[in-house]
Amino acid sequence: MSEPVIYWFRRDLRVDDLPALNAAAATKAPLIALYVLDDETPGEFATGGASRWWLHHSLAALAADLGDLGGHLVLRRGRADRIIPELVAESGAGAVYCSRGYDPWDPGLEQTLHRDLGERDVALRRYPGSLLFEPEAIQTKAGEPYKVFTPFWKACLRAQDPPAPRQPGSALRFHETPPEGLSVDELALAPRNPDWAAGWTDLWQPGATGARAALRRFLRGALGDYAEGRDYPHRASTSRLSPHLHFGEISPRQVWHAVGNHCAGHSDLAGQRDKFLAELGWREFSHHLLYHFPATVEEPFKPAFARFPWLGTESQLRAWRRGLTGYPLVDAGMRELWQTGYMHNRVRMITASFLTKHLLIHWRRGEAWFRDTLVDADLANNVCGWQWVAGSGADAAPYFRIFNPTLQSRKFDPAGDYLRRWLPELAALPDKHIHEPAAAPEAVLREAGVILGENYPHPLVEHAAARESALAAYAEIKGG
Ligand code: FAD
Repeated sequence: MSEPVIYWFRRDLRVDDLPALNAAAATKAPLIALYVLDDETPGEFATGGASRWWLHHSLAALAADLGDLGGHLVLRRGRADRIIPELVAESGAGAVYCSRGYDPWDPGLEQTLHRDLGERDVALRRYPGSLLFEPEAIQTKAGEPYKVFTPFWKACLRAQDPPAPRQPGSALRFHETPPEGLSVDELALAPRNPDWAAGWTDLWQPGATGARAALRRFLRGALGDYAEGRDYPHRASTSRLSPHLHFGEISPRQVWHAVGNHCAGHSDLAGQRDKFLAELGWREFSHHLLYHFPATVEEPFKPAFARFPWLGTESQLRAWRRGLTGYPLVDAGMRELWQTGYMHNRVRMITASFLTKHLLIHWRRGEAWFRDTLVDADLANNVCGWQWVAGSGADAAPYFRIFNPTLQSRKFDPAGDYLRRWLPELAALPDKHIHEPAAAPEAVLREAGVILGENYPHPLVEHAAARESALAAYAEIKGG
């Protein structure tokens, strides 16, 4: 049998439209399909709890998809820059194929592997596959990365359309005796004792089949209401593709082209399409930014924010995490997150704003919590989202725009549907009062069975005073 090549699956857990896999298949060499669970290289940014649940199921789905094609997924655990050279030595592989990574540690990891494999005359061949546009391809006239979204996205739209999705030109041919590996269960990714994710398979279908189904559902339904509906947390008006895109179960260009084809010839859908593609654009922008400015996982993009006086307390942080702030929309969002591994985008903005501006707690504490609890936790999108809300990010919201969680609640959940779903203790309150139980008359609360301080908390801070404190804190660093 000829020399095998290794296909190293990373955040590209699919077999369709995968340039690196297509290139590996084109060699006609027998493939060894490998996934390495590497918690060491990313250090504190290793995959969080909810995402590990997703990864467990996504790897099982990929293994089944490869099995249908006559292949086998080899699973190993440890530092990728140790495991891959070991597997090369063990299997006599002549090359390693993979998709590029864009997280802060990826370029260093790829360089080390390139060097170490090169010493054995084994090539590391890296291909695009996770983004619409490569970070080097979209730059200002001066050759700098964009730091503002609108010109960035215009430059993307002026660039050539992302290539249409492609299947392998040659059939995948797998190594007949794949090397030993661990089972998915042995990776111990899914929670046990307690299984806090019990029931999540009713909510989510990790894997490429689930990704395609989510895309089909979106095209048939929510896309038609996307531009307006996406702001209302109770409407199912968004695609829910984020975990699928994060793990690469579907490529952004598959999504781009599917949406474009679906809307072709329907001028009434053009606005919905453009809004949706622009959100995919935010994903691009976040990934390009993190690639060019990797220090922003820890440091504010705007240096003055390094001096920001973060004054919040640990007990306030605990109340926020548990959805016990006394602000219903914030609490509903935090409970949705805990119970489902997801939170609606508008509510992410409001809960993040509440943590950083009302409670003056460092955005990194919130980012870390989201990273552990979101099934779509994505370093680039998460850091960019948090820094945007906190005011310290590239192209961030102006600091003085501090969300009023009660007004946001009245505006985007007027009938209280989202609140009632996640806060059953408030469900019997009338629409008028559910957004602000602390302001409801005693008789109304009694009638609805709400006892403030007992079954629902008093507000942790008072909005107007918190807003003043946030502006005062900002005044300390402004102009710095
Ligand atoms: P849709 O509205 O259907 O959007 C389609 C896709 O576009 C999404 O799947 C996502 O890949 C991308 N997208 C949409 N909005 C954004 C955005 N604002 N920034 C970057 N990409 C976007 N998204 C993550 O994928 N992972 C995160 O860890 C994450 N953390 C966030 C933290 C904060 C504080 C904020 C404000 C936003 C965060 N987002 C994150 C962005 C956004 O909330 C989610 O991508 C979106 O809610 C996912 O739902 P959807 O797939 O239905 O989105």
